[in-house]
Amino acid sequence: MRIGLYGGTFSPPHNGHIRAARLFLREARLDKLYIMPAGIPPHKKADAWGDGDSRLEMAALAFGEFSEISDYEIRKSGRSYTVETLRYLKEKHPEDELFMLVGEDMFLSLDTWKAPEEIMKLCKIVTMRREATPQCVMEAAAEDYRRRYGACVKVLEAEPLRASSTDIREKIAKGESVSEFLPSNVAEYICVNGLYRNDC
Ligand code: ATP
Repeated sequence: MRIGLYGGTFSPPHNGHIRAARLFLREARLDKLYIMPAGIPPHKKADAWGDGDSRLEMAALAFGEFSEISDYEIRKSGRSYTVETLRYLKEKHPEDELFMLVGEDMFLSLDTWKAPEEIMKLCKIVTMRREATPQCVMEAAAEDYRRRYGACVKVLEAEPLRASSTDIREKIAKGESVSEFLPSNVAEYICVNGLYRNDC
């Protein structure tokens, strides 16, 4: 089987994430996709975060139709390092091939993550642009990882869909509309639960 991993803060999950996950499923011809909301990501400030349970619930609304939402990183104590999550998935699926989707920003800094060599041994990397970075810059980084780590990397040729959770949280705090960036069930969840508002 071809097993995919797509991790992130998902605070909240937005249309850019959903489009990326659907492309990943199709382009990597996955049999199963795990969506992995992060516990305490090593590279992010804790104060910008929604709590784990809300993020799991929003992930279920956004991706539940076509993937399995894993609470592994959120339930695990301590920081969540991708290499540990990949070891866990490899143990769970010893005979299967692992693929991991990372967006442009994460991809370009992959060699600064904990144990990049092991990460790139454990899984094949799939990436796509999300900002103005040209495709050739992504391809150059892919080539560099192939050379340095023997990585197997595929850069998807999809036009980026601009959306960012930070922008969405900031807009909600200012009372601006974010409906164009979110699926309606996630927008409703945020509204009903009063998430990301300044007054709560
Ligand atoms: P934040 O603004 O809080 O940092 P984010 O919008 O970057 O959040 P994350 O949850 O950190 O979202 O992203 C999870 C993964 O999805 C990362 O690999 C990121 O690069 C990727 N990603 C985020 N937004 C997009 C997008 N619009 N298109 C493609 N990939 C994306």
